[in-house]
Amino acid sequence: MAQHEDVFKKLISHCKEYGFVFPSSEIYDGLGAVYDYGQNGVELKNNIKKYWWDSMTLLNENVVGIDSAIFMHPTIWKASGHVDAFNDPLIDNKDSKKRYRADVLIEEQIAKYEDKINKEIEKAAKRFGNSFDEQQFRETNPRVLENEVKKETLHIRFAKALNDSNLEELRQIIIDEEIVCPISGTRNWTEVRQFNLMFSTEMGSTADGAMKIYLRPETAQGIFVNFLNVQKSGRMKIPFGIAQIGKAFRNEIVARQFVFRMREFEQMEMQFFVRPGEELNWFVKWKETRMKWHKALGLGDKKYRFHDHDKLAHYANAATDIEFEMPFGFKEVEGIHSRTDFDLSSHEKYSGKNIKYFDPELNQSYVPYVIETSIGVDRMFLSVLAGSYCEETLDASTGSVGDTRVVLKLPPALAPIKLAILPLVKKDGLPEKAREIIDNLKFDFNCQYDEKDSIGKRYRRQDAIGTPYCATIDHETLTDNCVTIRYRDTMQQERAPISDLAGIIADKVNLKNILKKIKEV
Ligand code: ATP
Repeated sequence: MAQHEDVFKKLISHCKEYGFVFPSSEIYDGLGAVYDYGQNGVELKNNIKKYWWDSMTLLNENVVGIDSAIFMHPTIWKASGHVDAFNDPLIDNKDSKKRYRADVLIEEQIAKYEDKINKEIEKAAKRFGNSFDEQQFRETNPRVLENEVKKETLHIRFAKALNDSNLEELRQIIIDEEIVCPISGTRNWTEVRQFNLMFSTEMGSTADGAMKIYLRPETAQGIFVNFLNVQKSGRMKIPFGIAQIGKAFRNEIVARQFVFRMREFEQMEMQFFVRPGEELNWFVKWKETRMKWHKALGLGDKKYRFHDHDKLAHYANAATDIEFEMPFGFKEVEGIHSRTDFDLSSHEKYSGKNIKYFDPELNQSYVPYVIETSIGVDRMFLSVLAGSYCEETLDASTGSVGDTRVVLKLPPALAPIKLAILPLVKKDGLPEKAREIIDNLKFDFNCQYDEKDSIGKRYRRQDAIGTPYCATIDHETLTDNCVTIRYRDTMQQERAPISDLAGIIADKVNLKNILKKIKEV
């Protein structure tokens, strides 16, 4: 774990050093859990959003997009249940004065038992080599069995406490499990209290009678309240989906994990409207499709897993998370929920408007059921960076022996810069030639010109921001019209005519390569 935390720290400083993510308001010492994206970060983020948007709206002819306002009528949040139930259970350590989410402390304890089991298995696998039978080991090893029982017992007790919203029991679990504050190391805990995560502000001047409104904590409600607008104006037939990308705001209690948990973040949500009774089939379909979307990036299939929810939200009849193996363990990146007809019915009730759909095939009206896929752009951004970050030791063929390089092996379609154009020297007409090449290619993809420092240093800088291709312009280029293309991952180099550059690279950096791996729903 310590080693992983080390990687996480390195990743955070890498993000800052190379213009991916900066702490917000840094010259004023920052603002808790708020971050800004720099020149490379915004490109990567935009590419992730485009990947999601295109996968929804291009690959599915029955999914369309909208862009609804952040401010919405306050009754929407009453109807959605957020005013009454969008709470997290918080607990404070009296010695360190640090605040934690009680549920997260317990989940981490469950993960500790899981870690202990996995370590035993890893050790035994090494010891027994090819003859190792994991199944048999799990069923017979006393330490594995003991931890398995502890894990399961805790799991059941935790799920019950959550479902009963039993705050005293949550506290008792923390005490019984002897969970300590990681800062003070003590077990001096306060009571557990509920804390509403919505930010509020006022609209209009006080003379008008200002109205308390909320910054939306999810983009989904903007979709629900526009359901009929889109359905009617787009003549959409059920099943169909509405996709949206936008900012969301949550006053998170614990905000110590970089862009994983922010107070202002961005979501990519899609609500898919279906006939009542068909929702669980669609839930399974979207689960599969979304997992394919993640895996198509090629960061490693083993880095993803599903995690079914112990406690279903007030609106759901099935829910799962797609988790990614972050440097601090497997964590939720996306939630897939079967939200029933809760939201639309509730908006019918609170608004007094009819939000039913007339199904011409069934010749009947009903409130549609909804499958939601909801993914955080920032968490996705972090998973892509964590999955791409590598520290490599070079050998004689690629650098001086013992040299190291940090390289982001980003999927080329997501990389902020696709091609760096590097004149070998700053004179003899090479910079002019380089500029001429960029002027031709800049309409196809993002190019960057760099003439400073040795070519080796320039390659390292491009590796660090994940540029998949570099093209070096040397004196021969002026006569043979060829450049040396250098590949980021293999560090191989090859000579190619300038006229072929667009063809070679445009194809490799095209999003279509990844999109084709996802089957249409
Ligand atoms: P968690 O349990 O980690 O708080 P959640 O289950 O409340 O997350 P959802 O309400 O399902 O999250 O939101 C959907 C997605 O939005 C999440 O999968 C995550 O990617 C993203 N998200 C939620 N809260 C945050 C946050 N504070 N910062 C960044 N992304 C977030």
